[in-house]
Amino acid sequence: MDTAPETSAPDTPLSAVNAAIAKSCKIARREPDEVTLIAVSKTREAGEIVPLLQAGHRVFGENRVQEAQAKWPALREAYDGVELHCIGQLQSNKAEDAAALFDCIHSLDRTSLLKALAKAFDKTGRRVPCFVQVDIGREPQKGGVPIEELSAFLAKAREMDVPVVGLMCLPPSDIEPAPFFALLHKLAHDNGLNQLSMGMSGDYETAVRLGATHIRVGTALFGPRAG
Ligand SMILES: *Cc1c(COP(=O)(O)O)cnc(C)c1O
Repeated sequence: MDTAPETSAPDTPLSAVNAAIAKSCKIARREPDEVTLIAVSKTREAGEIVPLLQAGHRVFGENRVQEAQAKWPALREAYDGVELHCIGQLQSNKAEDAAALFDCIHSLDRTSLLKALAKAFDKTGRRVPCFVQVDIGREPQKGGVPIEELSAFLAKAREMDVPVVGLMCLPPSDIEPAPFFALLHKLAHDNGLNQLSMGMSGDYETAVRLGATHIRVGTALFGPRAG
């Protein structure tokens, strides 16, 4: 994925997160370039995003199609090489807009969305790489494909020519996340997938130690979200 140069300005949240990633990689004997930091810019104004762009960061995550459509065209005009990831639950009727706007979708979580994305990809000819979200903690309210149904779901995606590159999870809050990250790693391995979207501000270092290739970090970069 995109590897824009990082200027190593000291003491910014971005440099602190990058340093923590590098440290976790060292412990796990991994290379930092195996981990993509997705700066989750949902709810943030362009004025908060620009400093990261100016520092050379190019990979961002949004959870709402409409909000991303409003913010990103102008920022993409001003900065080359932006990579935009969809990390939030996606309504099937937004599949075509999402296929046009995003470079990667992390929230493929159900058959109806799979069908809608397949149709959108066929129509636009743009096949966006997807992560399948797994219901890792058996919490249906968070969405995700049940673990027992994962292999069949992946087979269906292959049949429909939807490119699945890895698995994504949101572990239950207030419990040690490591066992859930380890389980997602095993599920990916068992299904021949090598990319893992896991880890947020509170647990990305653990996720990196357990094999995350994509971490989704908002608060640690931008501060607490309002509301
Ligand atoms: C908001 C969000 C994040 C980022 O959460 P932080 O705790 O602010 O780092 C990551 N993943 C998903 C799916 C999100 O909705």
